[in-house]
Amino acid sequence: MKVLILGVNGFIGHHLTNRILEMTDWSVFGMDLAFDRLDKAIDNSRFNFLEGDISINKEWIEYHIKKCDVIIPLVAIATPKLYVEDPIGVFNLDFEMNLQIVKQCVKYKKRIVFPSTSEVYGACPDPEFLEDESFLIVGPIQKERWIYSCCKQLLDRVIYAYGTRGNLEFTLFRPFNWIGPRLDSLDVAKEGSSRVVTQFIAELLMKRPITLVDGGSQKRCFTFVSDGIDALMKILENRDNGCRNQIINIGNPWNECSVKELAHMLKRLFMEHPRHSGDKSFSEIIDVSAEKYYGKGYQDIYTRKPSIRKAQELLGWNPRVGLEDSLRLTLHAFLDENE
Ligand code: UDP
Repeated sequence: MKVLILGVNGFIGHHLTNRILEMTDWSVFGMDLAFDRLDKAIDNSRFNFLEGDISINKEWIEYHIKKCDVIIPLVAIATPKLYVEDPIGVFNLDFEMNLQIVKQCVKYKKRIVFPSTSEVYGACPDPEFLEDESFLIVGPIQKERWIYSCCKQLLDRVIYAYGTRGNLEFTLFRPFNWIGPRLDSLDVAKEGSSRVVTQFIAELLMKRPITLVDGGSQKRCFTFVSDGIDALMKILENRDNGCRNQIINIGNPWNECSVKELAHMLKRLFMEHPRHSGDKSFSEIIDVSAEKYYGKGYQDIYTRKPSIRKAQELLGWNPRVGLEDSLRLTLHAFLDENE
């Protein structure tokens, strides 16, 4: 099988590529702006890489959509701080660029495995989010955070509409706070614009305060990347075509914790780390208002827990890595790479 991965150097892209090259005889064709996470893949003869921007290299993309069997467009801005700072950038990249790729998959009759997001459920009050039943709830226009959720939701709806009319074969997957090695870089965290787990780890390393937005009672379910990749591989294998035109949550409902609990657990794991157990001081954990941290355009999501019944039934999949192990593995990888 020939797999096209756009955004192949990203957090999900490079983990998926490594797994495909290790476990299958498939070929991977990939494009990205950079290749710093692709050291394991780059010399593999089944890996074909172009360094470039998806908004410029359109001929390369069209040619490879024609050539490949399955298309996985992973290029997107997926960090809340940037939804608020650069909503038009989110729209241009996450929506407009990806819409062109969806249309080419329709044109060339290619299967698309598309990353939707847990963010589409927005402020849904359900205790567990169900792919085919839960309401997708966002806030007012002035709260620009929601542009990412809306972009992804509209793409989900466009893909679904092409699919149900027989013009596109698709699977939409919704990652719930995947974490793991090389989630975000230290440089991004230095500016304060990375996702919560890497942001907290970077603060611990830099001995800066860990900031709990609005007290940190909001909860997330953190999913270790190897579990997420297990599910994605089953989606790509698509046994008996069981994933055809399905939307599938990929998350770990047993790894739910509040942001405050997360901060304390990461601090403890950092203090236990062999290179840091003797440090003289450690980051304090402080509160900050959402407006101060993110600006006026932000609104938080208080709970986000997946139902994984569909993933269990369709894929025979269950996440296996618990919260503490997921955080420890993420922390240790980050420290090993940045010290
Ligand atoms: N958050 C926080 N402190 C930080 C960064 C994030 O308290 O330094 C909170 C944020 O308000 C949100 C949660 O952590 O409630 C998760 O944020 P993340 O950026 O990982 O993305 P999200 O899960 O909201 O998509």
